[in-house]
Amino acid sequence: MYAPSAPPPPSPHPERRSRLYIAPYEGEFACDVTVLFDANGRVCFADERPEDRDVDGVLWERWEGTQTGELDWAAHFPARQCEVMEGRPLCGVCKGDPDRDERGTLWLLHAGDHPVLRPLPRSITTATPAICIPCARRAMRACQELRRGSVALRVREAPVIGVRGTLYSPTAPPLPDQVVRFEDDALRRLVARQLMRELIDAEIDDTTLMASASGPAVAAGTASAACGREAGRG
Ligand SMILES: [Zn+2]
Repeated sequence: MYAPSAPPPPSPHPERRSRLYIAPYEGEFACDVTVLFDANGRVCFADERPEDRDVDGVLWERWEGTQTGELDWAAHFPARQCEVMEGRPLCGVCKGDPDRDERGTLWLLHAGDHPVLRPLPRSITTATPAICIPCARRAMRACQELRRGSVALRVREAPVIGVRGTLYSPTAPPLPDQVVRFEDDALRRLVARQLMRELIDAEIDDTTLMASASGPAVAAGTASAACGREAGRG
């Protein structure tokens, strides 16, 4: 019943009302599909459609629905995550150009997912897209996980090296969240969810976001690309 005097529902965090390009909405969902092995030992869907595979023949989770309701900040919508990850890196929040300077492209990673980031390993494998400075600032404000620990990196070389998803076996239960490189034969047994990049020889950028944090306030318009946790659903 319409109640004009009823108080409005509690608003989400102002930074969280806005868009996050790679996040799924409440109205979007992974379809319940039956995964089988074909005669060649390759995973397939019982009702597979041509669009379930990419041009390289990799099978992807099938997602459907509409961009309605709240965003799920902890997850990636596979097709949109791919869009900003493949080819030239794009900002995962606004799909614009990520920040670049002489040290390379800006990445903002959750420190909790990379416990050994200091000193930096030569190679970091991540599903998190690059980011621009305004989106990184909002991400830092909006995302509790990032406030608990994050690291900004500059990266010159970040090839797409494989996919993460569920690895199937004819004899054992499926294993979620497995990263498989493109050259690995296990790719035939994987239902992919995220494209992975390898950040090579990244350097820590302790200055850019610190400097911009004292800059002028920016109206809420977007939020955290790096907010979703890397492992699990992120
Ligand atoms: Zn952005």
